[in-house]
Amino acid sequence: MGNQGDLERVGSPLLSVIEDLHSKYKLLQEGTVANYIPELAKVNPDLFSICIVTVDGQVYEVGDYEQLFTIQSISKVFAYGLALEDHGRDYFLTRVGVEPTGDAFNAIILDEKSNRPLNPMVNAGAIATTSLIKGSDPTERLNRMLDMFRRYIGRDVFVDISVFTSERSTGHRNRAMAHLMLNFGMIDQNIEESLDLYFQQCAVIVNCRDLAVMAATLANKGRNPITQEQAVKSSYIKDILSVMYTCGMYNFAGEWAYKVGLPAKSGVCGGIIAVVPHQMGIGVFSPLLDMRGNSVRGVKVCEELSQQLGLHLFECSNKDSKLGENLSQCHLKDEG
Ligand code: GLU
Repeated sequence: MGNQGDLERVGSPLLSVIEDLHSKYKLLQEGTVANYIPELAKVNPDLFSICIVTVDGQVYEVGDYEQLFTIQSISKVFAYGLALEDHGRDYFLTRVGVEPTGDAFNAIILDEKSNRPLNPMVNAGAIATTSLIKGSDPTERLNRMLDMFRRYIGRDVFVDISVFTSERSTGHRNRAMAHLMLNFGMIDQNIEESLDLYFQQCAVIVNCRDLAVMAATLANKGRNPITQEQAVKSSYIKDILSVMYTCGMYNFAGEWAYKVGLPAKSGVCGGIIAVVPHQMGIGVFSPLLDMRGNSVRGVKVCEELSQQLGLHLFECSNKDSKLGENLSQCHLKDEG
């Protein structure tokens, strides 16, 4: 496998692992594509890709890894980082909590005492987070957001206008949440502007390789391992990964933490990112979703990857056995 652009794509036992998982799970046809945003319902349900990027910039990928789709809720992770940089941890915590919720991502619930949304990964918290992103007008705020994504991905990014307008004209539930937060003084008056920015961030166009590079950037203390650009201050990585770990997988977050044991985030596009701190980022894309909104194949792939490579953060043996072995093999280029 040769180099492609700046990416160092290599063959290795790790590539064989994801190729095997791809062959195994492409046969799995369970789940349905998201259709509450009309444009999302048009996706081809058979698309499927897995990509791993290590913190030293090696890329392993299989399937439809260049297929473009909109990032949806995975964007919440990165908007959270930008809002933290804009306001600092202490102020941010007065506006959005860090408490996991067993409710669905789009539940219309605020903390009873503080009126804060529960965390930045549920829709209410994500809208409040986005409303905190600084800029003198909507264009500057959007440009700051796009520039942030550019740092993580390593190329210019764009908003899918059809998906954006589709969600903007049907996103009544998100609009209701914004009004509720306005009622409690948790976001400012300009809710249509904040909602537009939130819908735009969800409609940013990425592919599976981008997801893995973004996850690898988080694994690499906020520095993009391909371009070496710092995407977010390293001091906020622990905030981001903690919230991903406890709140990143909708109302499946507890089971995910137990079984997979990695900070992660999914989106209704069918994407999942998972972060192995100081080691690598994983991206999976398959649009068939389970009842909670997580990619069916994506969850299976991550469960097996974690098990096979001993990636669970609390796996006692992962310092000396499977993880070490497998990751050291990552660095061996395939001669054949
Ligand atoms: N734009 C979607 C929404 O706010 C994102 C949902 C998701 O991916 O969970 O409803």
